[in-house]
Amino acid sequence: MARQQAEEQISRLVQSCPDMPSLRRIHALLLKISPPSSSFFALSKILGFCASSPSGDMAYARRIFLQMPSPNIFSWNSMIRGCSNLHPPSTEPISIYRTLLRRGSASPNSFTLSFALKACSLVLALCEGAQIHAQACKFGLDSSPFVLTALLNLYAKCELVGEARSVFEAAQEKNLVTWSVMIGGYARVGMVNEALEMFRKMQEMGIEPDEVTMVSVISACARSGALGLGRWLHALVDRKGISLDMELSTALLDMYAKCGSIAMARKLFDAMPERDTKAWSSMIAGLAVHGLVEDALALFAEMRSVKVKPNEVTFIGVLSACAHRGLVSEGRRFWSTMQELGVHPSMELYGCMVDLLCRAGLVDDANSFVSAMPIPPNSVIFRTLLVGCKNTKMVETGEDVARKLLELEPTNAENYVLLSNLYAQSFQWEKVGRLRKTMKDRGVKAMPGLSCVEVGGRVHEFIAGGGSHPEMEGIRKMMKEIEERIRRAGHRPVTAMVMHDVGEEEKEMALCEHSERLAIAFGMMKMAPPVIIRVVKNLRVCADCHEVTKIISREFEQEIVVRDRVRFHRFKGGVCSCGDFW
Ligand code: ZN
Ligand code: ZN
Repeated sequence: MARQQAEEQISRLVQSCPDMPSLRRIHALLLKISPPSSSFFALSKILGFCASSPSGDMAYARRIFLQMPSPNIFSWNSMIRGCSNLHPPSTEPISIYRTLLRRGSASPNSFTLSFALKACSLVLALCEGAQIHAQACKFGLDSSPFVLTALLNLYAKCELVGEARSVFEAAQEKNLVTWSVMIGGYARVGMVNEALEMFRKMQEMGIEPDEVTMVSVISACARSGALGLGRWLHALVDRKGISLDMELSTALLDMYAKCGSIAMARKLFDAMPERDTKAWSSMIAGLAVHGLVEDALALFAEMRSVKVKPNEVTFIGVLSACAHRGLVSEGRRFWSTMQELGVHPSMELYGCMVDLLCRAGLVDDANSFVSAMPIPPNSVIFRTLLVGCKNTKMVETGEDVARKLLELEPTNAENYVLLSNLYAQSFQWEKVGRLRKTMKDRGVKAMPGLSCVEVGGRVHEFIAGGGSHPEMEGIRKMMKEIEERIRRAGHRPVTAMVMHDVGEEEKEMALCEHSERLAIAFGMMKMAPPVIIRVVKNLRVCADCHEVTKIISREFEQEIVVRDRVRFHRFKGGVCSCGDFW
């Protein structure tokens, strides 16, 4: 009886314990009054503190856990949860969960499963997560709101929206959290219409969105360039009086920047009372992608002067700004500043530097830079080099780079197309033919071009060559009209860049059906100036489409903004903002 009272008292002490040194003293006191084998209750409280309090100590928790002959479920849960809070995330919590099942001394409850599922989503351990899902059904815990939310989170993180959707549909109670996770899942994989449909449904049910949900849907709009929808959401934030905290402001400014409205992005940024690294970096990257190089670099200088620490993303913005304007010596200076500031050069940063050198025509320098990299370069870096070789007609270096690239990525058609174009430029038709045969033998198929355009509150997607859009007939008619007008304006298609084993006429046909042409035609069918047509494309815009869009902007007096994989192009009055450099 006396020992039980002492244990209870110790548990109360743990509850008000401020830090680890005090906890160690409490632990010592417990050991004095009873051996670890007979004080489960108090010991599990001590373990809980070490594993889950912000001032806890996971190493100490592990030691206590190992001394427990048969830990209760509370202690197992503390361990699984504590280990998943460690950085960087590991598979340790999943192994602990497995040990629990193997020993069979305690039964998992809904907390155990939700902590284990969270651990799976952190390391994207989909197989393990699916097993836990099956176990949840077996234990009859699959309808617990904790488990459901964790499952939804796992599937959404792993981009399995179908699975996430069925978990969501099965949930009896949909509280705010499950809606947010589902919307976030759609947003992550770029399914903007689905994310917005879910958002509208949620509102119909009378569930008020919070900042987290708003950030999710707004970033969905940013991904697909849906400016109209993004504006509507911004108005909704204002109307609902949702507080514009730093994260929401940053999501909005990022959306405006990515949807081509850089002035609005800047307005939001300037109005922010406080700005963290993410806000500065988003703004700098936004300016860079719009080709506003001076503004981007001036903002970086300002960021440094107010002593906000730049990170990897900031330097990606800064270096890509330099690349857009061919500022090689500035770029090199930023590269050393970056290292002085202790920002570790990531693969993406190496890629930025290679791009900067290649665009400036310094392909040899870029090549030596890549050879000196301390980490093995990835395919993106080799591809950037190959583009550089193509632009400067360096066949030998190009062949060397292409060999390494094709070793890493033997089935990516873009790589073959680049090398083939390099050969074609120097009239080495025999090699072009051989390459085409290799492609056929390896079964390599071109990645389809994909363009989106926002019309009437929905994002419409187009695949190169047509696809199954319900209004295809009208689009083809519109395209014919456009074609005639631009032909009369003197346009002759640039067919050199199309790799097809076909005659000129069919080449032209292939060009006309590039996805951005379909998206632009559809936009012109449904909208009229002064409405700007905004298109987002997954690949680089080809030379012919670029030329055609310039002519359309003059002949039809239609302003068109295209965001391709690399940058923004604003076509107006027959010229493009990129100055034909992209
Ligand atoms: Zn094209
Ligand atoms: Zn352009």
